[in-house]
Amino acid sequence: MTTPKPAGNPLATAGLPPDAGPAVPGPGAVSSLRPLGLDRVLLDDGGLLGQWRRRNAEHTLPHCLERLESSGNLDNLRAAAGDPGGHEFAGMWFADSDVYKTLEAALWELATPGADPRLRDFAGDTVALLARAQQADGYLNSYFTVAEPDQRWLKPVWSHELYCAGHLIQAAVAAGRTGTSPELVEVARRLADLLVERFSRVEEVCGHPEIETALAELYRLTGHRPYLDLARRFLDLRGRGLLDHGRFGPRYHQDHVPLREATEVAGHSVRQLYLLAGMVDVAVETGDLALLAAAERLWDDACRTRTYVTGAHGSRHRDEAYGDPYELPPDRAYAETCASIASFHLSWRLLLATGRARYADEMERVLLNAVAAAVSQDGRHFFYSNPLHLRTGHSNAGEEAAGHRLPWYSCACCPPNIARLMASLPAYLATGDAGGVQLHLYAGATIDTGAARVEVRTSYPWQGRVELTVASRTAEPWTLALRVPSWCGSHTLLIGGEPVEASPEDGYLRLTRSWGDGTGVVLDLAMPARQVRPHPRVDAVRGCVTLARGPLVYCLEQHDLPEGTVLEDVRLHPRGPLRTSGGDAAPVVITASGSALDGAAGAPLYTSEGGDETAGPALALTAVPYFLWGNRSEGPMRVWIPVADAG
Ligand SMILES: [Zn+2]
Repeated sequence: MTTPKPAGNPLATAGLPPDAGPAVPGPGAVSSLRPLGLDRVLLDDGGLLGQWRRRNAEHTLPHCLERLESSGNLDNLRAAAGDPGGHEFAGMWFADSDVYKTLEAALWELATPGADPRLRDFAGDTVALLARAQQADGYLNSYFTVAEPDQRWLKPVWSHELYCAGHLIQAAVAAGRTGTSPELVEVARRLADLLVERFSRVEEVCGHPEIETALAELYRLTGHRPYLDLARRFLDLRGRGLLDHGRFGPRYHQDHVPLREATEVAGHSVRQLYLLAGMVDVAVETGDLALLAAAERLWDDACRTRTYVTGAHGSRHRDEAYGDPYELPPDRAYAETCASIASFHLSWRLLLATGRARYADEMERVLLNAVAAAVSQDGRHFFYSNPLHLRTGHSNAGEEAAGHRLPWYSCACCPPNIARLMASLPAYLATGDAGGVQLHLYAGATIDTGAARVEVRTSYPWQGRVELTVASRTAEPWTLALRVPSWCGSHTLLIGGEPVEASPEDGYLRLTRSWGDGTGVVLDLAMPARQVRPHPRVDAVRGCVTLARGPLVYCLEQHDLPEGTVLEDVRLHPRGPLRTSGGDAAPVVITASGSALDGAAGAPLYTSEGGDETAGPALALTAVPYFLWGNRSEGPMRVWIPVADAG
């Protein structure tokens, strides 16, 4: 295997691999910024992101390991390997992908100092199992090997064979970049070589995108051009009606228009977002600026017209799909966890390609709200669908509209996806370029590029104060870029204790100097509690506001209402004060003034008479961060709060 050396950040001189992280552009890529890799960013356990990473390592990942065993995913592969035991195939036909995502998570985690040795055992055992389950020609898919051996490659719309292959390849990329398992890279290459042989001359694509980004990443790892060419071929073939669309139609599969001509996101939201990630990867590696522009255009369409205030995507349950523009019902939000994760991955790729702050803003929004809400405080329960309003009297509609987080799912795509994102979290905090270091996500951490060291101390997002100690091992001046989030109306900056006037350029404060061996920088981002109004075309929440503070969206929970008060009867007094309490390590809550309607219980469903709402006595409303909802008790919740008529 030949590993091309990426054009390194010139600040990175410590001799550590600069590419131990997801989605690292290759040496010739169109890329504004370069990742720093997991080994250069150490998250403090005390900060929120550090707590999440640690919870993932100590609870979510071990939980996933247990579930892969108890749900039969590993037995499926043992059956494919011909191991004794007579296992029947269990679970979804794409159950292998849960194994691969968990394996990827474990491999990222193993790059972190002090990783749990059980993860090393799991990774070693699983890679050995995969090598045994792989067929002589490189084929690897337990469902088709065990259950439908004569149907291999014959069901491109629903088989998910290439989708599963993509997740295997992504795990192998993690293995290659962290140096944890050369054997897994070899397994993935044997499979990828088979794909090149099988798909390079036929006009076929997979119903569920994923292989495109995976092959581009494998090209980056190995330098083997046929992988990139095949990824590009799959993208070029899309939008030509090659798939048999069935009951959901061509838009569901993003097969209704060639990708470079698409102007709006469509169909199954996870598929759309994974496809967009592949578009960016291929675009930057091939210099295809039209393809990159198409990806930016679709990202823009999604964010302007089809994204929830939490950063979640996908408003329709029936086909897990995007709705029409501004169709964003809070109670019927589908908002699949995988779509939130895919949105984060897409924005990361676009941030690297363009350096534009809006992509870092979106990473922050979706991570701290939609992604974070999908996992419980104990790290062992998960949402698949993430509504913004759980109604009083909600009938628990099973897995796809659960009123509380479940320990696992029959379609378990989301929990291991959370695990792989959380395990790789440090890689997304900062980047480098020829001019210096850029900080995108704020969290207590130490960033060490070899030539530059930045210590970050902060209780963000509970407080907006970010204290940095910036040290340089070179006398040359370089630029520290600090993101000023789009929600932030004002900030103050101190360097070496002295106030400095600085305005963000394209969303970043750019501070250029010779940093010496330890310069103190304090960035204070004002984060008063605020009301957020929806676009006037979002009919479902017209007349409502949501409360927010800094990057966090808030919600009301039944848990905080007086006994007997129905959540849907609560009205917010929009001119009342918003007060905050808590902070530093504790969640900040917002207190607002409101009231509950009188007489709603007995009112007719429809009436031509009267109809004005009658406010009851004043009520102090407590709003909590959305990502924490459903952790104290089960019950109704809402993000969007109707505003009282009288204000
Ligand atoms: Zn999912």
